[in-house]
Amino acid sequence: MSMTPGARNAPQIDGDLCSACGQCVARSVCRTKAIRTIDQNEPPFVDVHLCLACYECVPACPMGAILKPTVTVAQV
Ligand code: SF4
Ligand code: SF4
Repeated sequence: MSMTPGARNAPQIDGDLCSACGQCVARSVCRTKAIRTIDQNEPPFVDVHLCLACYECVPACPMGAILKPTVTVAQV
């Protein structure tokens, strides 16, 4: 079964930094809409099955709440 890059290397959303700003700016720049919100009052999460590990969301978040993984796994 093939895996998207994000399945291993998806960014993390730091719940302490995220202000749950409602209209997640980071989601708006995500091509696959891999950033999902269940509750508008809670931080979103990254759906690793949709994530391409492009990290375009990282600079988009005004709170710096989206973090690249510290170690990425090489693609095979
Ligand atoms: S991740 Fe960033 S842009 Fe998205 S809801 Fe949290 S603070 Fe807002
Ligand atoms: S912008 Fe890229 S790295 Fe961020 S969640 Fe979307 S696909 Fe993944």
